[in-house]
Amino acid sequence: MQIITGTTQLLGVIGDPVQHSRSPLMHNAAIAQLGVDFVYLPLPVKANDLATALLGFVAIGLRGFNITIPHKQAILPFLQEISPVAAAIGAVNTVWRTADGWAGTNTDAVGFIAPLRELERDWSTVPVLILGCGGAARAVVAGCAELGCPKIAVAGRDPAKLAAFAASWQDSPWSPTLQIIPWSDLATVLPATQLLVNATPLGMAPQVEQSPLTVTALQKLPTSAIAYDLIYTPRPTQFLKLAQQQGFVTIDGSEMLVQQGAAALQIWLDQAVPVAVMRAALLTGT
Ligand code: NAP
Repeated sequence: MQIITGTTQLLGVIGDPVQHSRSPLMHNAAIAQLGVDFVYLPLPVKANDLATALLGFVAIGLRGFNITIPHKQAILPFLQEISPVAAAIGAVNTVWRTADGWAGTNTDAVGFIAPLRELERDWSTVPVLILGCGGAARAVVAGCAELGCPKIAVAGRDPAKLAAFAASWQDSPWSPTLQIIPWSDLATVLPATQLLVNATPLGMAPQVEQSPLTVTALQKLPTSAIAYDLIYTPRPTQFLKLAQQQGFVTIDGSEMLVQQGAAALQIWLDQAVPVAVMRAALLTGT
């Protein structure tokens, strides 16, 4: 059992809601395994309370925190240091205290590519199609660029949001590899897609019966395609069930969740962390 004393250092996750976050489970399991004097707490912070909460965190000496909806972008003006990957993504999920104030990065991109790196592929020959153009899609773009994928197509259903997404990458070095696709044109890109990523909530509770693509659409993919769903529960999602039936390699979002958490904990503790313990805690819920 983890013993909390007067010297225990504080970590946590801020967001609204955070009640259902699995991060405390995963991080505290690793902390217990390492035997370090830290604890990781869920810290509910409403959208309008971010500035006040940050002052409080300084006052109580909080060492670092993860960020979930709705603060991933709102945190940016409060940081004294932002990593290049977080700047490119335009969102931060991990913050730590430095002598100068708060520093932030985004570990979602490294989390996303971790299970892909386990596959034997020449990524320079793998064109990508990302479904959805929200926050997670941005980390996927960064991850695919890091892998060296030659073409990264992003499909969205809302033309205004899609245009804003395209504009936000204009000054990025990755801009030439990006292709923005209206949802209605998806079928034209599928035959040349080797990595298909669901970055929409379609398939997550309460939409567990839904898939962003039909079987007919999935049948347009090459047989060597990889289907990757960022959703981590249910496992598998309807999208991945359909993809499995077509014989594609499938990846769910659980490993991304574990690996983004492991990368964050490594920053805070400045030491290697037990990823297997974090994975087991997340998957078994204990
Ligand atoms: P988000 O910012 O809200 O973006 C969701 C995107 O999906 C938006 O582009 C949205 O379009 C689109 N979308 C929603 N419903 C749709 C529909 N019926 N048809 C087509 N497009 C639709 O959410 P997010 O933070 O990017 O998260 C996306 C998913 O990734 C969630 O399921 C989340 O749980 C998962 N995720 C997983 C991890 C992990 O570690 N595994 C990390 C981050 C996120 P509109 O703007 O038009 O609604």
